[in-house]
Amino acid sequence: MNKTRKIALEEHFMAPGFEEYSQVFLADMDPAEARELGHRLKDFDDTRLEEMDHANIAYVLLSQSGPGVQGETDTPLAVRRAQENNDFLARRISEHPQRYGGLAALPMQDPPAAVRELRRAVQELGLHGALVNGHTHGVYYDDPAYDPFWEAMQELDVPLYLHPINPYKVPQCMEGHPELVGAVWGWGVETGTHALRLLFGGVFDRFPGVKVIVGHMGEGLPFLRWRFDSRFRVYSHGIELARPPSAYFGSNILITTSGVCSAPTLMAAIGEMGVEAVMFSVDYPYESTELAARFIEDAPMDPETRELVCHGNAERLFRL
Ligand code: MN
Repeated sequence: MNKTRKIALEEHFMAPGFEEYSQVFLADMDPAEARELGHRLKDFDDTRLEEMDHANIAYVLLSQSGPGVQGETDTPLAVRRAQENNDFLARRISEHPQRYGGLAALPMQDPPAAVRELRRAVQELGLHGALVNGHTHGVYYDDPAYDPFWEAMQELDVPLYLHPINPYKVPQCMEGHPELVGAVWGWGVETGTHALRLLFGGVFDRFPGVKVIVGHMGEGLPFLRWRFDSRFRVYSHGIELARPPSAYFGSNILITTSGVCSAPTLMAAIGEMGVEAVMFSVDYPYESTELAARFIEDAPMDPETRELVCHGNAERLFRL
């Protein structure tokens, strides 16, 4: 049990002053559970490290809990909040540099400012990439205004973790079903669709070095990878891609196991994505560290595959 060294990539914290943004996620939760989550999100020195030790998680990349900066409607304030978040994160990392790295928050409201903050976070603060919580007030990052952003991601050679957020508008098919809008189903549809917008919008053709990480076992996308090719051949709407849609999976789109602790699903994901494109994560503190660790230790993989999924792929991708 827990003999495999692990690295986890979707592990959240709460920077001071960011609580109000997360109310949208916490409001529908049991109050006692929400309080416990609040406590865990602000802890860097106790429970978090104890649970990592117990699960043999050697190192994690920390990121601000959603929606974070993406929830700010005032653009100049979003720029400042991203800087504050990243400075705060860098200080916490400096207290446990052997255990923590970080993914920057970015003010995607202002694409040139997002590029500047990305460069500062990576080159000056030593962060390992960025995590953005999906769209920014209904704007998606296949928009040509973000081409300089993708160019900078490619040049810096750091990944973008595309994390879920609530849909900008509740889709008609979810009307009357609030249980479907959020984490149960809607976040996967929202975030998987955003990843597909990047793919079909040609972002990976314009910037072939870009790496986007999608959590929650790829938000279901690996299961439909074959169909993307089959139906795009028939319904391309004049869109031309350099490669078949399936080819961008495993090369430009990578996934983590965060919050999907099912061995059959993992086997299918590895089959579709390739063994080098699936990485362990927990989604702390929203998911159980112990359960995630037990799942990845027990899943039927050969030892080489388990080492890659648990830490080898993350080490190669983030140059750890
Ligand atoms: Mn998460």
